[in-house]
Amino acid sequence: MLKIPHFINGQPYDGRSSRYADGFDPALGEIVSNIPLAGQDEVDLAVAAAREAFAAWSQTPPQRRARILFNFKLLLEHDQEDLAATITREQGKILAEARGEVARAVDMVAYACGIPQLLKGQYTEQTGEGVDSWNLREPLGVVVGITPFNLPLLAPCWMFPLALACGNTFVLKPSERTPSTAVRLGELLREAGLPAGVFNVLHGDKMAVDALIAHEQVEALSFVGSTSTAQYIHTQASQRGKRVQALGGAKNHLVVMPDADLDLAADALLRAAYGTAGERGMAVSVALAVGSAGDALVERLAPRVRDLKVGNGMDPNSQMGPLISAQHRVKVLGYIEDGVEAGATVVVDGRAVNVAGHDKGYFVGGTLFDHVRPTMNVYREEILGPVLCVLRVPDLKTAVAMINQHDYASGASCYTRDGATARAFTRGVRTGAVGINVPIPMPAAWHAIGGAKRSLLGDHYLHGEEGVRFYTRYKSVTQYWP
Ligand code: NAD
Repeated sequence: MLKIPHFINGQPYDGRSSRYADGFDPALGEIVSNIPLAGQDEVDLAVAAAREAFAAWSQTPPQRRARILFNFKLLLEHDQEDLAATITREQGKILAEARGEVARAVDMVAYACGIPQLLKGQYTEQTGEGVDSWNLREPLGVVVGITPFNLPLLAPCWMFPLALACGNTFVLKPSERTPSTAVRLGELLREAGLPAGVFNVLHGDKMAVDALIAHEQVEALSFVGSTSTAQYIHTQASQRGKRVQALGGAKNHLVVMPDADLDLAADALLRAAYGTAGERGMAVSVALAVGSAGDALVERLAPRVRDLKVGNGMDPNSQMGPLISAQHRVKVLGYIEDGVEAGATVVVDGRAVNVAGHDKGYFVGGTLFDHVRPTMNVYREEILGPVLCVLRVPDLKTAVAMINQHDYASGASCYTRDGATARAFTRGVRTGAVGINVPIPMPAAWHAIGGAKRSLLGDHYLHGEEGVRFYTRYKSVTQYWP
């Protein structure tokens, strides 16, 4: 049984709390690790370490901070196979997807290496007679990241590389369901030359999060996870006057126009809806088939979904891995049941999937619903599983209106061959990310990810220049030498 430590002040730390969680291999359905859940003592220790390290780290010139991050980037690249295997074993996604996650995390670190340029201010000479003005962007202090199970490496990397590059110190509270990569990040950062205390990892649940929010030396919190947790953290942290950005859940739509290349659209939907077993925040879970596209699209999708090879993510032949937990599997099966009862047509039913030698694994096969209606729970709520809902709509205007009426507003895509349609769609939808002939419009490291409504609480998107703004305080300087 693997015992996972916290990582505090540059060292693994077993903790004093008597509370533990079981860690699972979701493909086997077996307990494989033991995870300590931090209490007030560990939170105090981690924040104190980060606070102490802040004095020197915030004064370290940005280019020296960048050099350490560059070393870290090289170490991440060197370690990518091990990191990917750890992600697959704990989270369940297939190895190819885990490798993709590592590659995107490396991009985030590479972007943060440009921090001297990103922190460069603006200068105006002669704002008055003999008066000059400029601005500074100064670090906040100790900042916290709270991350979900589905991106154990990438979600932290949306946060801490830029936070550290800006001169802050960091406490990461990863999902207690996928804790291992966070500790490895601590070890690699130490190896890269990061001083002790600048980056710390605390495992835990609501108790640790509450103690972090309440801690008076925590200046800001970044969160990615479900909407209910995002709302709770945003409210609690805002009430205490902390800076907070909180990305929540999603229900991403993909519109298929009658003029689209339908094979391309079907291939895209297969990857976007069933990749990572539909557990991605950016997964597409709704296809809006416009006009005559409906029957032809479902005809193309059905055999692709039926042929999806479900299995252990470590097996190179698997195309889709298990869900994260037994509990979540029951929830997803409940949604499928609910969709059937509500009258949606089940074109492919993944409930009875069987993976040889993995009887206890948390598998659900690819499921395809057609003729779903907007009032159904399977349309309105986030399922976070391999379930795609097809809805038929008469025209683009209706499709855009439906996207804009939905409670979630993370991403939306449109498949078309027509430039004017693409332009109208891009301008019309009010989601954080928009894709044209791209199923998952995941922004590159130098752009930013966010959303609106129940998908983003707070004002700032994550990473890119938005990240620099979130992790720094603006100071305007006016100087006169009589
Ligand atoms: P979650 O909200 O259960 O957990 C996220 C984090 O919050 C974890 O670290 C967890 O320990 C902590 N937490 C859980 N309950 C808490 C509580 N009551 N109080 C305080 N902290 C709590 O989310 P999850 O199941 O790990 O992640 C899946 C969710 O994340 C989905 O809704 C998905 O859409 C979303 N997500 C969104 C994006 C995006 O780009 N918007 C990206 C990835 C994941």
